[in-house]
Amino acid sequence: FDAIIIGAGLGGLLSAAHLLQRGKHVVVVERLPHCGGRFTAKNFHGVQVSTGAVHMVPFGSSGVLSHMLRRLNVPHRLYDADVFGSFHVHGQQYRSRGLLGVARFLGPAQFFWFLRLGYLMFFRPLTAEERQLPFDLWLERHINVERNPQLVAFFASISRFALSLELNQVSTAEVVRTTKNMFRFGAPAIVEGGCGEITHQLEKIIETYNGEIMLSSEVLGIVQEQGRVTGVLVKNKVTGEEKLLQAPLVVSDIGPRATNGLLQQRRVKQSDVLKQKYAEDHTAIARATDDVQEAVGLKVHILSDVSLIPHKGIMYCLDTKRIAGMVQPTNSDPSLAPAGKHLLISHQVIQSNNVEEERALALADLRSMFGETFDQHCQILTMGTYRGEWPVNRVVQGEDVQPQLDVQGLYLVGDAVKPSGYLMVEGVAQSVNNFLDLLDD
Ligand code: FAD
Repeated sequence: FDAIIIGAGLGGLLSAAHLLQRGKHVVVVERLPHCGGRFTAKNFHGVQVSTGAVHMVPFGSSGVLSHMLRRLNVPHRLYDADVFGSFHVHGQQYRSRGLLGVARFLGPAQFFWFLRLGYLMFFRPLTAEERQLPFDLWLERHINVERNPQLVAFFASISRFALSLELNQVSTAEVVRTTKNMFRFGAPAIVEGGCGEITHQLEKIIETYNGEIMLSSEVLGIVQEQGRVTGVLVKNKVTGEEKLLQAPLVVSDIGPRATNGLLQQRRVKQSDVLKQKYAEDHTAIARATDDVQEAVGLKVHILSDVSLIPHKGIMYCLDTKRIAGMVQPTNSDPSLAPAGKHLLISHQVIQSNNVEEERALALADLRSMFGETFDQHCQILTMGTYRGEWPVNRVVQGEDVQPQLDVQGLYLVGDAVKPSGYLMVEGVAQSVNNFLDLLDD
C-alpha cells in the first residue's frame, strides 16, 4: 500500500478519499464492524440514534466540511438552521432570528453589557495576556457577573453545548476565534439522513476509487525502522488472524494517546483510561498520567409525540442544572424518526464522576423545562456518557496537538488535531486539510 489509515472515523475516511483521489493505493483499518466512528448512527426502532454527534454540522452548508465533501464529490444535503437559536430561560423559550432577539430575555441593562462585550471581543485586539485568560476570568474583568446572570449563562450554555467545556476551561482567544468563525461561515445544519449518511457516502466513494476498508480489524502496533514508519500490525477480530501491512505513510485517526500506545505496541483500553482519570479526584477533566485532556459529555435521545422545539437550530438552556442545549433534528429531516414522532437530543458537560447523578440531573432538567408534557409525551431512548477513548473531543478545544509526530511518515488527523477556531467536525475536516498541506510541503 501507499498509505494505511488507522480508524474509519470521519477524519480517517476523509483522508482516505483525498489520497485515493490523488491516485494512491490506500487501506483503511477499522476495529469496529462498521465505519463512521463517532459520526454515524444506528437504527433503533426507526430512530437514527447516533454514536456521537447530534446529527449537526457546526458551520452548515458554507462550512469547511461541506466544502470538502463537494470537492470530493460526496453527495450530501445539509439543512441550515432557520434561526440563530432559541433560549430556554425564565420558564419559556425565546426565539432569536438575529442577535437582537437576545435582548428579549436579557432586558436592557444586560443587553447593554452584551453589546459592550461584543465590541471588546471583535473590534478591539486582545492583549497577549487576555488571549491566554480563561474566558470566565475575562468576563469577570468586564462585567459584574452577579448583576448579569443571564448574560453569563448565555456564554456558559453555548460553550457547554458547542465545546463541551466550562468557561474556565477555554481561553478567551479560543472563544473569540470560534465565534468569529461561526459568524464567518454561518448557522449550523442538520444532515439529511443523519450524520451516518455522510460517512456512508464517503465509504462508497472509497470503494469507487478501489480503496480497501478492513472492518473488524484492529491495529495492534505501528512498525517503524530507523525513525521511519513502515507499516502496522493488524488483527482480524473475527478470525483472530494477525498480519503485517506495509506502507511508507500511516495516518492515525485515533488520537495521540492511542497512537503513542501503538508505537509502543500497547493497546490503550477505555477501562484503563477511566481508572487513571478518576482514581485521584472526581473532576470531569482530571490530570491523567499522560496529559491528554478530552472534553466529556452526556447525551440523551428522546422520542416525543409532540414538537418541543419550533425551529431547526439549537435551543440553549440557560437556567438548567446540567443540560446546555437541545436540538430537534426531525424538524429538518422527519425521516430520522418514525412518522409523526419527533427526535430530540440534549447535550451536557459531565461535571462529576457520579454518572447516575448526572443522568438524574438531566431528567430533572427535562421535567423542569417541559413540565407534564415531558412524562406524558416523551420516551427516553438512550442516555449515554462520552469520555475516555470515546469522548466528545479527544483534546479540548484550543489545546490540540500537532499533526506530525517524531516518526517520519506518521501523521495524526481527527478531533485531537483541530486547528484553533474550528470546532467538532469542522475541526476534523480542517485537520485533514492541514495534513494534506504537510504532505505537499
Ligand atoms: P472517531 O470518530 O473517534 O474515529 C476513530 C475511529 O478509529 C473509530 O471508528 C474507532 O473505532 C477506530 N479505532 C480506534 N482504535 C483503533 C485501532 N487500534 N485499530 C483500528 N481502528 C481503531 N460533532 C459535530 O460536528 N456535530 C455534532 O453535533 C457533534 N455532537 C457530538 C456529540 C457527542 C455526544 C459526541 C461524543 C461527539 C459529538 N461531535 C459532534 C464530535 C464528532 O462526533 C467528532 O468530532 C468526530 O466524529 C470525530 O471523528 P474522528 O474521525 O476524529 O474520530
